[in-house]
Amino acid sequence: VAVWLNELKKQIPLSRLRTDAATLQSHSGDAWFASRQPQAVFFPQRTAEVSTVLRLASKYRIPVTARGAGRGYVGSAVPQRGGIVVSFAKMQRILEIHPVDGVAIVQPGVITEVLQNEVKKFRLFYPPDPASKKECFLGGNVATNAGGPRCLKYGVTKNYVLGLEVVLADGTVVRTGSRTHKNKTGFDLTGLFVGSEGMLGLTTEITLRLLPLPPARATLSASFADVKHAAATVLAIQQAGFLPSAMEIADSFTLEAARRHVGRDRVPPGRAHLLVELDGQKSSVAREIQILARLIKKQRVLQLVTADTETGNEALWALRREFSASLKASGLKKMNEDVTVPRSRLVDLFHLGEKLQKKYGHPVACFGHAGDGNIHVNIMLDPQDRAARRRGDLALDELFVHIIKWKGAITGEHGIGLAKLPWWKQATTPALRDLHKKIKLSLDPQHLLNPGKFI
Ligand SMILES: Cc1cc2nc3c(=O)[nH]c(=O)nc-3n(C[C@H](O)[C@H](O)[C@H](O)COP(=O)(O)OP(=O)(O)OC[C@H]3O[C@@H](n4cnc5c(N)ncnc54)[C@H](O)[C@@H]3O)c2cc1C
Repeated sequence: VAVWLNELKKQIPLSRLRTDAATLQSHSGDAWFASRQPQAVFFPQRTAEVSTVLRLASKYRIPVTARGAGRGYVGSAVPQRGGIVVSFAKMQRILEIHPVDGVAIVQPGVITEVLQNEVKKFRLFYPPDPASKKECFLGGNVATNAGGPRCLKYGVTKNYVLGLEVVLADGTVVRTGSRTHKNKTGFDLTGLFVGSEGMLGLTTEITLRLLPLPPARATLSASFADVKHAAATVLAIQQAGFLPSAMEIADSFTLEAARRHVGRDRVPPGRAHLLVELDGQKSSVAREIQILARLIKKQRVLQLVTADTETGNEALWALRREFSASLKASGLKKMNEDVTVPRSRLVDLFHLGEKLQKKYGHPVACFGHAGDGNIHVNIMLDPQDRAARRRGDLALDELFVHIIKWKGAITGEHGIGLAKLPWWKQATTPALRDLHKKIKLSLDPQHLLNPGKFI
């Protein structure tokens, strides 16, 4: 057994450390393809234990990879250089919900939806809603700056992080920000750690901003003959002064997959679909949804359905939530990209999806957050088929070349991890990469935190 492992066993409660084959295997990958086993998995219950492990890792130069729920889509939690995985699965406590301050303080292993449900009891609202919210951890959301359908109106995870407790590579514990909704004391170091994919420090406590829970919401489902009309409707809605809480678009491949999976009668006709949600006070939402319906009717809509009750809203959202499962039911695996384009490029992006499908012979399904131009472009393939993977990679190359040319982002919410590593250089300038390196080296000079990733 390695010397460092023996010393670690002396310094931390043994029950927190696992080296059995099953645990190493289950902590080797996430929701993407790549995997690599660590030599040990550590399940801390308090900050001091994380600090001890990092001090020891520093002394022996052992790589450390933080892990949330392992639901990431880009392999960022894969311990690419082995070493220790620090899993936050046992730091699952909500430490405080303060309705007057509009603040929640949580440990990093709290599941996103658990916090949302808890704060709802106080008529408070934690908006970030990644589709993985039933499983993913808030620590993982902070490290990836997770988004979701509600980002259009409410912003991404970073807009809710008021403060962090972070353990640095040498074991030092720092606290950034505070429990106030504004704080301009020094640099925005909270912002520096948000989205840093476990490469600058390990988060052990998060202070989150909460909003008042909007008492009402209403949903509108519209289908169109083609995606051009759906995209034009997205722009018309915003030009009319509406800021919906969500605006989700789906293409014809996604709708066909849903027709096969959930039945034709549950999926509206047409080759494009738009789901729009408004929230606010009951009377204003009721009035606004009528105006919105009138506006959408002018956009060559094929079918329009509105709902303003909880059951009705959920029935319309249920179809949107089936899209991922419908694509999976096709028997192929999704190479799920999360590109973001300036909104004026939405139609171009859908056309590009169709072009890639024809050129490379893989089905391409596009759906996602139309309001902020963040579309999941899913290249569907059999991952066991090596030739298909190669063609898939070529299709991705072509996709990202266009995204960069259009001044879009190669990832809007999942992060770089391992999956986007081949395009990291193309998507950044040498000066920007150099700045990343300088920041990394000043916080982690031995390059121990999540090595093998984009720095
Ligand atoms: C079905 C499905 C749907 C999804 N939908 C969305 C979506 O709508 N929007 C979206 O943004 N993402 C989505 N994702 C991606 C994923 O769920 C998010 O990236 C999520 O934030 C990952 O959280 P996690 O706890 O699983 O983190 P992990 O996958 O375990 O880790 C992700 C990264 O965070 C780091 N990390 C984790 N905890 C800490 C910590 N305490 N300190 C420092 N670093 C840490 C890890 O090292 C790694 O780099 C989806 C994934 C799936 C499988």
